[in-house]
Amino acid sequence: MTIALVTTIAELQALIREKLREQDAAGSPQSLGLVPTMGALHHGHATLARRAVAENSVVVSSVFVNPLQFGDAQDLARYPRTTETDLALLDEAGVDIMFAPSVEEMYPHGEPSIRVTAGKMGEILEGASRPGHFDGALTVVAKLLHVALPQFSLDDSAGRPAYRAYFGQKDAQQLALVQRMVADLNFPIQIIPVPIVRDEDGLATSSRNRFLSEEERTVALVLSRALRLLESRATAHEPLDIASAEALIRSAPGVELDYLEVVDPQTLAPRAENCQDTPFTGVALALVAAKVGAVRLIDNMPLG
Ligand code: AMP
Repeated sequence: MTIALVTTIAELQALIREKLREQDAAGSPQSLGLVPTMGALHHGHATLARRAVAENSVVVSSVFVNPLQFGDAQDLARYPRTTETDLALLDEAGVDIMFAPSVEEMYPHGEPSIRVTAGKMGEILEGASRPGHFDGALTVVAKLLHVALPQFSLDDSAGRPAYRAYFGQKDAQQLALVQRMVADLNFPIQIIPVPIVRDEDGLATSSRNRFLSEEERTVALVLSRALRLLESRATAHEPLDIASAEALIRSAPGVELDYLEVVDPQTLAPRAENCQDTPFTGVALALVAAKVGAVRLIDNMPLG
């Protein structure tokens, strides 16, 4: 195993410096890739990690279950923690450093009184069902992006190492919000979106899928099926008829639909042209959230 496991910010920063210096000595262009995760890693995460490894000289992946973004203490307590297998998966993907801090390391003074607020875009869709979720998520992402920030090179002519962070389109609203935060607050980093990874049957891979029974897993396929239905109508420039896709989901036993919405991909606002009954034009993003048994799942698909 060549990956290093670090648990403190000081160790992480020292190791990033050391690894970048090694790259510098080897004459390779310096860049740092960061892949923030909450662990319980699967092949969706591995895809992000491999992409970061392919594009950067040094790659850090963080594994931190962030209490700030959980509204429900039970949900936080039962979130899967699989450090050993996470380390092996990241090592296999070629990641250099896994950063797995404790809650105390990330929040030494308890809950931070100053936070990032996600604004209006954080109050819709997932934010409507999970109040405060995106404030908590953006706050920890802001901290992680600062913690791993590569230092200026010792050699001025080499300039600042490139700095990139990788986020999955699986969490489309989170991705849009992180992009907004980085633009609005001038973070010196490039955000790289990575397309959704699905299992062979179409289910978007998720750390929460392990909580589905075999039967629930089969039922859960209705979510990607409904999205594909909208996608095929959009591609054919037909009216979307979202109501029929909703009905398909509601007809599945044990599925409780939260929302199925077609929005502008950048702003996540409802499209002016909703194309419910008129031919679909342009581009959009279809987003779905539903509970399957006790497990809340989200998925999305670009349209057009
Ligand atoms: P999580 O550990 O669930 O917070 O996810 C960490 C990162 O992996 C986020 O940027 C997610 O969007 C991304 N991710 C999780 N599942 C998938 C997937 N199925 N496809 C693409 N990216 C994913």
